[in-house]
Amino acid sequence: MAYETRQSSGGTAVRHGGIQRHRSISKRSRTLASRRRLAVGVVTLDRNISSFELSDNTVDPSGSSYLLISFGQNESETHARALLADAMNHGPVQWLTFASFSPVSRRPIEGAIRSCRNGVRIAIIGNQFDVLQCAALARSLGALENEIRKLITQSSDLPIYCAHCRQTSRVVGTPGSVVVCSACARSVEIHAHFSESKGCFLASDARARTLP
Ligand SMILES: [Zn+2]
Repeated sequence: MAYETRQSSGGTAVRHGGIQRHRSISKRSRTLASRRRLAVGVVTLDRNISSFELSDNTVDPSGSSYLLISFGQNESETHARALLADAMNHGPVQWLTFASFSPVSRRPIEGAIRSCRNGVRIAIIGNQFDVLQCAALARSLGALENEIRKLITQSSDLPIYCAHCRQTSRVVGTPGSVVVCSACARSVEIHAHFSESKGCFLASDARARTLP
């Protein structure tokens, strides 16, 4: 199998380069984007917690290629480097790293995921907000649950979806906490219900339970 090696072109948000190798791709290879969009539902966080395994820095050796997406530095970067080293033993690997998940970083991430082929293994490493939002993006682009691995290095922040203004925002808290929605300034309670499709915890007016 012939390989073409090149440096990741990335986008302006890519702070340092990854390693990107492409196999010769047949026309029949399917991209993730060609899959039908998955049915989405609401699940509790517990189901996801089980895949947050920071102690394991090895990749699934059965992957056909690997995409590593890391946010932040320090611990996140350390895990990403370890996964990169292991992934290179098994197939083509691309590593993208950003300060955070944002409208700016979303674009190059989306491009990288769209170009992934069946059998890819995507590892997302970083703060809880960044990882959950990025995983939701990957799922919306066709990645299956068993192709996405979430490694959360810090869980003090999380994404909420405000039931009132329908905006997603980053807050410091946990399910049960009352926080202020940065978009509409309401005091909202974070519920345990987690939407895989939005990558968010549902939040609604904290006064709702006390109203007559
Ligand atoms: Zn709001």
